[in-house]
Amino acid sequence: MRTPLHILTSVFGFPAFRGHQQEVIEHVVAGGDAMVLMPTGAGKSLCYQVPALCRDGVAVVVSPLIALMQNQVEALNQLGVRAAALNSARSFDEVELIERRLEAGELDLIYVAPERLVLPGFLSLLERCRLALFAIDEAHCVSQWGHDFRPEYLQLALLHERFPAIPRIALTATADGPTRKDIIERLNLGEGRVFVAGFDRPNIRYRVALKNNPKDQLLRFLEAEHTGESGIVYCLSRAKVEETAAWLNAKGYAALPYHAGLDQGVRAANQERFLREEGIVMAATIAFGMGLDKPDVRFVAHLDLRMASDAWMAYGLEDVGKLSQFIASSQASEAQKRVERGKLNALLGFCETTRCRRQVLLEYFGETGAPPCGNCDTCLEPVAKFDGTELARKALSCVYRTGESFGAGHVIDVLLGRDNEKVQRFGHNNLSTFGIGTELAADQWRSVLRQLVAAGLLSIDVEGHGAFKLTESCRPVLRGEVKVDLRRDPLPAKGKSRKESGKKTATPLSEPGDEALFQHLRATRMALAKAQGVPPYVILHDSTLIEIARRRPSRPHHLEGIPGLGDSKRDRYGDLLLAAVMEFEAAE
Ligand code: ADP
Ligand code: ZN
Repeated sequence: MRTPLHILTSVFGFPAFRGHQQEVIEHVVAGGDAMVLMPTGAGKSLCYQVPALCRDGVAVVVSPLIALMQNQVEALNQLGVRAAALNSARSFDEVELIERRLEAGELDLIYVAPERLVLPGFLSLLERCRLALFAIDEAHCVSQWGHDFRPEYLQLALLHERFPAIPRIALTATADGPTRKDIIERLNLGEGRVFVAGFDRPNIRYRVALKNNPKDQLLRFLEAEHTGESGIVYCLSRAKVEETAAWLNAKGYAALPYHAGLDQGVRAANQERFLREEGIVMAATIAFGMGLDKPDVRFVAHLDLRMASDAWMAYGLEDVGKLSQFIASSQASEAQKRVERGKLNALLGFCETTRCRRQVLLEYFGETGAPPCGNCDTCLEPVAKFDGTELARKALSCVYRTGESFGAGHVIDVLLGRDNEKVQRFGHNNLSTFGIGTELAADQWRSVLRQLVAAGLLSIDVEGHGAFKLTESCRPVLRGEVKVDLRRDPLPAKGKSRKESGKKTATPLSEPGDEALFQHLRATRMALAKAQGVPPYVILHDSTLIEIARRRPSRPHHLEGIPGLGDSKRDRYGDLLLAAVMEFEAAE
């Protein structure tokens, strides 16, 4: 009996499907095409792995990243599933062996790099095999609007022509409107069903902080909530990555750098350590982390403004300028630049919103109607709004009077009536707007200007070195026909994050003894992982160890129904786990 649920429980050891998994799986098992948009960690892999085991034949999984392929195959082999990977890391003999197993029908899943899949020889090999399905992982790679376009993905459209009867499932975590449309068109998935789900992640708390002293802010965030945990700190530039990693090391964290400028070997070694060890903080540019499957990543912090705002992000107006500059100076086509600018504006809107951050984020990914989450910074501490029409008009007219040729610093000098050399040189001390803004401090004016950019009333001119320009939509504001609401930015409160430090998120184990047993089980797992040369979570997840620590099993049948402990893993590790519990209890 090979129903999806049976496979889920007996092979994977999970009691129930999550979110839309069941719907997707039933659709694909029945032979339908599908496009699945779920954020990383939501459980996309099961959406093709379970159908692969339900349907006859081998499932062909296209994946662009060798390291991730390797991880998946190791994890599947641990579960007793017959899986292998074909990529450039394989020797000639290995390839031959795998291809022979493939043709003999001895594999349930074969992972292949896209460039190999489309080789004529490989395609005709596939024609001699019984095929269960095609899974196209990281499907956004087919789109030029995505952040990781790979030309070889374009050729995957031929799967539809060559194997029209075989179901295809495309999966990605990057799924805003333009990318989504592009994937469907380019992969010829027009007939398939689209599943969008799970972008709501109640276990992530979204917070955006105003850059004040970003390093100290980051350190407080780590100390208060994430001591000893794995996480990623994203930075905009390579230099900043190096600097941040060195600085975190000096502060006693195990931090490693990752960026495209590092030697290939160093990069691979650092990624490997991050995946295999616990408690490593990776300082990285966005070159790092796509599709990473490391379930014990506890935080993602962004030291600069970034598109994927997972958890905690500090940002300032300079970042907006820098990113606009990146976009303007890139090789991309005009159309793509427009899309990128659109994303940047959406992100800025996200930062400056006075609404629930999760709502704004979900709307961006097409999920509307969600209630306020009660768990983001704006829900937890609602932002005070006030009628900022007068301030907005002052700022806008000052931009206008200074000829739309200056950035924040100079505009604020004029608003505040600072009679400095530059102001005099341009004769701006004679303007009607000179000194009309003394009711606010410079920082507060920065906040106002940022919000005007976010609201689309000002734009930042990249050719003009970041000068503000008025937009069409500011006319009604200047004429006094439209009101402008502004948020009162909280002053950088020093004492505040201390208050939060009591809420350290550790395991949900309340008994100190259970917590100690959990640590003992982790050590056992680490030894197993080292011996097999795989990451610890491939052996067993934290959640499985936590459940064991809670139950304290002493007989093999006590292990039944523990999440993440399927038949094969129970056979393999059951005795060891029971022994570890016994050992611990004897010493307790
Ligand atoms: P994605 O590919 O979407 O990033 P994965 O497929 O790697 O996510 O799944 C993330 C984690 O969630 C994995 O460790 C997986 O074992 C776990 N998981 C997925 N589906 C379920 C489920 N139905 N029950 C329990 N755990 C699940
Ligand atoms: Zn919220």
